[in-house]
Amino acid sequence: MSAPVRPLSTDEAAAFRLVRLLAAESSPYFMAALFATVPVAAPGLGTFAVDASWRLYMDPDLLVGEGAWAQADAAGVLVHEVGHLIRDHAGRAGQLPQPMSHGAWNYAADAEINDDLLAAGIALPAGVVTPAALGCEPGGLAEDYYQTTSAAGWPEPSAGEGCGSGAGTWASPVELPADVDVDGRGPLSDADGDMVRRHVAVAVREAAEGGKGRGTVPAGLARWASGVLAPPQISWRQVLRGAVRHAVALAAGQTLHTYARPSRRRVPGVILPAMRGPKVRVGIVVDTSGSMGQADLDAAMAEVSGVLRASGVDRARVLLYSCDAATSTATRVSNLAGIELVGGGGTDMRVGITAAEADRPHVVIVLTDGDTPWPEAPTRARLVCAVIRHGEPTGTPDWATTVHITPGR
Ligand SMILES: [Zn+2]
Repeated sequence: MSAPVRPLSTDEAAAFRLVRLLAAESSPYFMAALFATVPVAAPGLGTFAVDASWRLYMDPDLLVGEGAWAQADAAGVLVHEVGHLIRDHAGRAGQLPQPMSHGAWNYAADAEINDDLLAAGIALPAGVVTPAALGCEPGGLAEDYYQTTSAAGWPEPSAGEGCGSGAGTWASPVELPADVDVDGRGPLSDADGDMVRRHVAVAVREAAEGGKGRGTVPAGLARWASGVLAPPQISWRQVLRGAVRHAVALAAGQTLHTYARPSRRRVPGVILPAMRGPKVRVGIVVDTSGSMGQADLDAAMAEVSGVLRASGVDRARVLLYSCDAATSTATRVSNLAGIELVGGGGTDMRVGITAAEADRPHVVIVLTDGDTPWPEAPTRARLVCAVIRHGEPTGTPDWATTVHITPGR
């Protein structure tokens, strides 16, 4: 049974500051994270561990006294534990199929960290977990290694042997409740943790680009940083729905404003009939000569129909046109089944847009691979260009709304 946790004593705190300084010297880009952890003395723990609120539990006998680790080793272990926090191993463990194997995840997460630490020339105790020791290729993610470690049926560590809940594995028995202050310092919230991660990611990127840090930045760490700093992935489905919804809403506002007269009568206690959908007319023009596949077209059409229905657009007011390069004509068809994708490329979608405009729609949605000229002057209808192609679409008019759809996604 270990003694209860407590704040560090004066001697222990001095030793910890020195160890932290060494850690910051070897990994300057971890500075923000090293200083964000809340140090806690955990007598009898026998190691260092972290919890998900960024508290760092250290056996004080490893910091001071005869049995203390060499300072360089302690600094290496500190960088390792902080590595669990900045890589959000706790959050990522929550994404694994449950129930998960805690031991297998701890090995996998350790391998992801140690791989980069060894590449950066940081001292680690002999026999630490590496991808090679697990029989895996280096440079991977813990999720990759977990495939191997969880299949291997390795013995589960007992609680207290792992790196703690901050690594996504068993909570160490010494871990404090989530809301307890230590030495006047509270735990970090998830939002605070994310902010520290971003700080570290920016520092890693600067070190990788400008060489401001000492030595080189390990490739795995640089990849991690770009992942943290990359803009969030928004699916084309979301963008397409948003664009169509917006165009319909603007057109609806226009039709209401122009043609509809709001009722002045409000009868108390009487529920008036639900407002009817806007009388918005929509033309959908499909490029049949494009390089886009049936599955992509179906997926895009499903999104468009869904959002039109949700926006209250009457089906009878949605007209569909098939635009064919071979004949340079556009044909009205009753449904998607009437459209045959022939491929070949090089359609003139202006023909289809003109045909659609003849029916006086408020919104025209064009589904194409983008290999087409576009009208130069703004169309009367709001134009949404849904371009299904690899690579960014180019050449769509800036007065239109363009949605980029990556095939097969
Ligand atoms: Zn670990």
